[in-house]
Amino acid sequence: MSGPQPSDQPPPTVKCVVWDLDNTLWKGTLLEGDDVAVDDRVRETVLGLDARGILQAVASKNDHGPAWQRLEDLGLAEYFVQARIGWGPKSASVREIADELKFAPGTIAFVDDQPAERAEVAFHLPQVRCYPAEAAAGLLELPEFTPATVTVDSRRRRQMYQANARRQAEQESFEGPSQEFLRSLELVMEIRRATHEDLSRMEELTLRTSQMNATGVHYSDADLRALLDDARHEVLAVTMSDRFGSHGAVGVALVERGPSVWHLKLLATSCRVVSFGAGATVLNWLIGEAFAAGAHLIADFRPTARNRVMEVAYRFAGFTDELCACLAQLSQPEGGRTQRLHITPAPRPAPETLRLTAVALTAAP
Ligand SMILES: [Zn+2]
Repeated sequence: MSGPQPSDQPPPTVKCVVWDLDNTLWKGTLLEGDDVAVDDRVRETVLGLDARGILQAVASKNDHGPAWQRLEDLGLAEYFVQARIGWGPKSASVREIADELKFAPGTIAFVDDQPAERAEVAFHLPQVRCYPAEAAAGLLELPEFTPATVTVDSRRRRQMYQANARRQAEQESFEGPSQEFLRSLELVMEIRRATHEDLSRMEELTLRTSQMNATGVHYSDADLRALLDDARHEVLAVTMSDRFGSHGAVGVALVERGPSVWHLKLLATSCRVVSFGAGATVLNWLIGEAFAAGAHLIADFRPTARNRVMEVAYRFAGFTDELCACLAQLSQPEGGRTQRLHITPAPRPAPETLRLTAVALTAAP
């Protein structure tokens, strides 16, 4: 442990505990084939720290795959917001974890059974407080692991951190290639009213594009074919091409047009064109059309395991959960999990990375 603290100054509360694995978090050495197990009191410590809003991470010299698998099997993986499992120096791992969490080294604790590892961390990061494995089971009793207050938010801190990390990763993957690269492709998108000939391909899209299907609802060829002749409904086909050739049909949208509210019932785009911003382009175009018609726009969204990227596209486009009076004009969604996302449309700039030609929905039919 680090040197004695002056008695009139309570030690600053630890914000993250970085755990070694072998003979620290668990008993035994994984790579030597031990059936490693976690002592009950150590498990209680991990859960207790988590409940106090103290984040936890792993810095271990192991092979990443089997070590992480073991943490999952032990039911503990979810408690660790960062894992540096590899063969580099522990001080580098601890520093990376602190940087990633944007925590000062003085708020980090490091638990490791090896005196040499603790010394290596203390040498490079003297503010990090180091504890031997024997101290692990008693951490909850120490003042530096006892925050003055534990709020609802601090108890949720780990989940909020994890949700944020997922959101960031998805936004990064959503943003995809650079604008310059996209412009170099000379992308062209066409949005037009679907014809009977289009429909087989459209049905295939709603079936196969689960990742980018905002409703998760399957519309059959017959469903869409019936709506093609319904004056209130627009079945729209989206095709794309670039300087290398055609991408063919890449999207389908189904919109019901009322006098003061438009209802986007289905939007599905091929995952091949996600990185070209196809979903966002269609949404922005439709928002502009609804604005021209003086209508509010409501989109059905049903979260599935694979369509989070579509939710990101809706949020980026400006859809929110606001409870507008226009929602009362729509019949209740089928199935309890369907959310209604709303936007009060405003004019939208033309897309920056592709040339769009689109049918004018507000023109006389
Ligand atoms: Zn509204």
